[in-house]
Parts: sequence; structure tokens; C-alpha cells
Amino acid sequence: MKNLFPRLSLLAAALTLLTACPSEKPAETTSIPAAHALKVPSFNADSAYAYTARQVAFGPRVPNSKAHVACGNYLVATLKRFGLTVREQPFQAMTFDGTQISGRNIIAQYQPTAARRVALFAHWDTRPFADADKGAKKNKPMDGASDGASAVATALEIARVLSLQPDSLAPNVGVDIMLMDAEDWGYEADTQTEKKDQLSEADGNSSWCLGSQYWAKHLVPAGYKAEYGILFDMVGAKDGRFTREGTSLNNARSVVDKIWNTAAKLGYSDYFLFKDTSAILDDHVYTTQAGVPTVDIYDHPPFGDQFFPPYHHTTADNMSIIDRKTLKAVGQTVLQVLYEE
Ligand SMILES: [Zn+2]
Repeated sequence: MKNLFPRLSLLAAALTLLTACPSEKPAETTSIPAAHALKVPSFNADSAYAYTARQVAFGPRVPNSKAHVACGNYLVATLKRFGLTVREQPFQAMTFDGTQISGRNIIAQYQPTAARRVALFAHWDTRPFADADKGAKKNKPMDGASDGASAVATALEIARVLSLQPDSLAPNVGVDIMLMDAEDWGYEADTQTEKKDQLSEADGNSSWCLGSQYWAKHLVPAGYKAEYGILFDMVGAKDGRFTREGTSLNNARSVVDKIWNTAAKLGYSDYFLFKDTSAILDDHVYTTQAGVPTVDIYDHPPFGDQFFPPYHHTTADNMSIIDRKTLKAVGQTVLQVLYEE
């Protein structure tokens, strides 16, 4: 993902402080049914942690690498084992540095015949270079424990929990696990000055989010529709902080309210902050264009001049920063949202 205003992050932060409506309290608590009226299953944070570690153990999941293929096969097999209907969408793409890559989006449906649907998106590739690092580490690949693996793991654990429920305890909506590829091979002007972006952004394309851009133009399943989408991105780091992102607010404000109010009700307001922040470029831009208004849950320092957390796009994004409590806050909140539909 990319900050849309990389050199303006201080200004953007200042403007946000000036213009955001700092609502301290959830706005619509009364419209949400009481938690005890629903039997919402428990999101198992140990399981989500293990799914994160399993992906990291393959090595960096950089497109065209053996680890990438092996991890993709593992994800397909795991989702099939849960009994979901799994489709693979292979695609070819060129990256900003002229590399031809073989990508694969993985689409898995729970209750595939349900008319009302919610999509859960995450990217399963990792960035090929830790360009936010200093020195020689800049060109090394990274583990992507939070940036990639934690998001996929959260979606996997939700799928696992849903798959265990008898029909009488299933949610009213179908749930689609949409694992997008090649999100993170994008051009970052601030840290990659020695390179050139060979892809033109003029026609609306971007070097980021290649998998979701492909999916948006070639929907799988054909004619895909969902009431809304939730994108997980960097949802596993200790002390993760999730603010209300601009594009999400513009396109799916009621879903943002629903998620953040649900988190507050469950006691996770330390993670889900009622703070509006500026728009970023991430997979939700393209999934929203494809007709699925999508909310991005991503780790964003609420204060200071850093747009992304310190581990972002560095080799420090490894298992040592992963915290079960953050995974639990995100996973349990979203499970609750699904059950309240
Ligand atoms: Zn990234």
C-alpha cells in the first residue's frame, strides 16, 4: 500500500487534526443488537498466530519465487480443507521495474449460494524489497509478517471458525475470502529514487495492487456482487492502531461506523480509534471500483509524522512484532459484524 501524499504526511496529519470530527464516542450504539442476543463464535488468536507463522515459514512470498508458489498452494489447500468453494485466478502482469510476474488471486466462498454476501480481502504476496530500511537491507526481501501474513491469517481463522458452525449457528450472510496477489511490488518515490516507474499512472493504473486491479477487470466469480468488503492489511503487529481511512469513509461510511462501533462494544477501542485519517492507495480502491464498497483496516500511527508504522516495508516486519491481542481484536470484531448481518 502507499501513502497518496508521501511528502505531505506532516501537512496531511495537521489537516486531519484540523478537519477531522474527533468523535470520542461511537455514534450509533443503540442500533446494534445486544451481543448476548447472538451466539458469535470465538476467534482463536493462537490459531491466527499459527497461520501467520506458517506463511512466514515459507520465506518471503515474492511473485515468481518458489516460496510464493508453495504458499499459494498451501492457502488453496487450507481453504478447501475448510470446505469452502475455492477458485484460483492466475494472471500475468508487468511490475514497475519491468519484471513479468505470474500472479494468482485466490477466491474462496463460504455459503456460496447465500444471496447476501460480505467479502474479506487481504493480499498474500510480500514486498520484494525492504526499501524503507537503511543500507544493504534496502534491497533484501522481507518476511511480511504483519504486511501480508497477518491479514491472510485473520481471514483464514474466520473461515475456519465459520466452517465449524452447524447450519443453525451460521451467519445470515455468505462470506468470501478474497486473497489478492501482487499488491506490494509498487514504486515508492521516496525510497526508490534510483529506480523508475515504467508503469504509467496516467490511465488510472498503478504499480501497486496488481492482483486486485486484475480481479476488478475480470471478476471471479463472474458478475460478483457483495454488499460490502472489508480489507485487512497489517493487522497483526503489537499495539496496532486502526484509524478511519479516507477512501473507506467516502465509499462505505456506514460500514466503517458498523465496524468501529462493534469494536467499541467489544472493548477494542484501544485498537480501533475514532479518528478520521487521509486516503491511501490500497486494494480497497480497486475492489470498490469493482462495485464492492470496501473498508480498509490497516495499521496507521495516529500521531506523529510517520504515516506508516516503523516496521512497514522493513526487515523488522517479522514474527517478533506479531501480537495475538491485535489479531484477536480485529478477528473478533469482524466475526461479530458478520453475525450481526
Ligand atoms: Zn506493503
